[in-house]
Amino acid sequence: MLKTDLKFDFNKTISYAEEMDQKDPIRHFRSEFHIPVNQEGKECIYLCGNSLGLMPKVVSEYVNEELTDWKNLGVEGHFHAKRPWMPYHEFLTESMANIVGAKPSEVVVMNSLTVNLHLMMVSFYKPTKERYKILVENNPFPSDRYAVESQLKFHDYDPTEGLIEMQPREGTEVIETQDILDTIEENKDSLALVMMGGVNYYTGQAFDLNRITETAHRFGINVGFDLAHGAGNINYNLHDIGSDFAVWCSYKYINSGPGGMSGCFVHERHHHNFDLNRFAGWWGHDKKTRFLMGPDFLPMSGAEGWQLSNPPILAMASLRGSMDIFDKAGMNQLRAKSLKLTSYMEYLINEIGNDRIGIITPEDPDQRGCQLSIRVSDSDKSLFNTLTDLGVISDWREPDVVRVAPVPLYNSFEDVWKFTDLLNKSLK
Ligand SMILES: *Cc1c(COP(=O)(O)O)cnc(C)c1O
Repeated sequence: MLKTDLKFDFNKTISYAEEMDQKDPIRHFRSEFHIPVNQEGKECIYLCGNSLGLMPKVVSEYVNEELTDWKNLGVEGHFHAKRPWMPYHEFLTESMANIVGAKPSEVVVMNSLTVNLHLMMVSFYKPTKERYKILVENNPFPSDRYAVESQLKFHDYDPTEGLIEMQPREGTEVIETQDILDTIEENKDSLALVMMGGVNYYTGQAFDLNRITETAHRFGINVGFDLAHGAGNINYNLHDIGSDFAVWCSYKYINSGPGGMSGCFVHERHHHNFDLNRFAGWWGHDKKTRFLMGPDFLPMSGAEGWQLSNPPILAMASLRGSMDIFDKAGMNQLRAKSLKLTSYMEYLINEIGNDRIGIITPEDPDQRGCQLSIRVSDSDKSLFNTLTDLGVISDWREPDVVRVAPVPLYNSFEDVWKFTDLLNKSLK
């Protein structure tokens, strides 16, 4: 991975933030979102796009179109809606593939995230007597842990033995890439799968997916990534990274709305391997003959072949609306602004110079997305509560972290300035 070398001449004045906003080539995207307001009607400082992205204004239009087509066409909407429901998922594929840097044939939008994680493990976790273990990051998102543990149990392995969890070195929160690679090598004879987050939800650490994949594959171990906190945040090149699969949700950085659809990536090298285990459903069947309703399952060759059901069109419409904005902005532009915006926030937090708080997210820009995780000493949640009262929407993660994510699509440098100003005041 190329090292990102950043040099900024930040300063602490509000006029500097205003100047950065004026110079920001993508500042206009903010006006395409609804920004939540407090009781007095004043805009909140929304730093929670890592949890639920804001609503793009265009989404109402997209969802309403489908409601109108349903109202006027009934079942005929499958073929005659403005965007026919039959092939609706195809209207999402290319934009989603661009977001994660994959070929369109490698990506499908379907189901929700944890469901897809299970479907992928059905195909790519193939334990044998010797090789059955799964390596995960330190402190994975609970749902991922439950999913992985239940897969181990499903195959009659004891999770306390079958699950290997990375451990950070003494006195640090983040994991050294070399330690991950060494752990893979040390366990090369017993590992069946490496399953990691792209960005850890708690620390905000982004992992080196290229080197992890390369090392695991060298030992014949399958690799999958959960990009819930990476997709729409980091400009990945999933095809070149070459993992066997990846899954992500679209309601965090991709702004598709609560419980929105999940994206799923299956690398091209598996597209014609019909011997893989797979849980099947009719939407994965060859579309040319699906409606002959025959008894034999004939899967489509790409990622589409993993679909189960005819999809929820209203949720897809909402995602389609939000992806219009990604089509215009492009991940490279978003990431370029994000690198600046997050470094600026880091700079201002460090300038506060208060021992009660410390950033646990890596300083290296290649090892993080936009999120910064701020550890509060003595697990003092009152700081978070004060910030909330002052109109900052961030989140508290037990035991002692406030997560803040300045999102390049709709957060401004001024947002970041105001947040750190309020943080400073709250600490006094
Ligand atoms: C947000 C998130 C989830 C949530 O899973 P759903 O199936 O969408 O409810 C799972 N894993 C990770 C890593 C997440 O960040």
